[in-house]
Amino acid sequence: MGLLTTIEEKLGLLKYKHDRESHISVDQDTFQADQLQAILYVCPAKVYVKKEDDGTCIVNFENCVECGTCRIAAPGQVKWFYPKGGVGVNYREG
Ligand code: SF4
Repeated sequence: MGLLTTIEEKLGLLKYKHDRESHISVDQDTFQADQLQAILYVCPAKVYVKKEDDGTCIVNFENCVECGTCRIAAPGQVKWFYPKGGVGVNYREG
């Protein structure tokens, strides 16, 4: 395998065990446009996707790499917890 240069290539190496319930929730009612933009920008796994029709946020929690960045970017709008034991991302090299 050659040198991996993009985030997408590196994310493609991760393995996940998906939960049925999300460990992330977004307060859609108080979601401010600037904070939404911050989350869209900082999440390396593109978990958050803005719906074009109504501007609300879709949360693809299955892709979360558990970095915790979104908690810092929008602490009032995002509730994020580690997935329960045995599910979530599995890092093969630490
Ligand atoms: Fe994205 Fe990291 Fe937040 Fe998971 S913890 S949703 S990967 S920013």
